[in-house]
Amino acid sequence: MSESTVRAFQQQDDAFRWSGVELRAYKEEGAAPFRDVTRQTLFARADMHGELRYFEVAAAGHSTLERHVHAHAVMILRGRGEVLVGEQVHPVKALDLVSVPPLTWHQFRAAADAPLGFLCMVDAQRDRPQPPDADEIARLRAIPAVAAFLAGSYTPR
Ligand code: MN
Repeated sequence: MSESTVRAFQQQDDAFRWSGVELRAYKEEGAAPFRDVTRQTLFARADMHGELRYFEVAAAGHSTLERHVHAHAVMILRGRGEVLVGEQVHPVKALDLVSVPPLTWHQFRAAADAPLGFLCMVDAQRDRPQPPDADEIARLRAIPAVAAFLAGSYTPR
């Protein structure tokens, strides 16, 4: 991505976009289960240790359930939904901040009727996400709110 002092924000076909920023697939197809997620790298420089990305989960979509050594610092930018961090499910809306500590299970789900767009700050050099194995899934599903979230039926009160 070449440097540009100002990249204008533009809403295109209801998606949040920035001029000159490529819209990419969230992950390689088949790499891990996810649904209706796009990725845009907003800032990445060889002389910085961090990157800022924007992800957009379409209504009823979700990111992968994963954990890794690197942390995430997230600001919700549009829409609403729920996030699983560790063993807790939290409703989130625009401008909420979400911290994902190292080696903590996490997943983002958009509401059935609204997208969920968020900025995510990460280390430029980072380890690969780990998927849960069957035992981890069973352990998470033993928590009722988490089971409802994973089934896509969590409703914030
Ligand atoms: Mn992650």
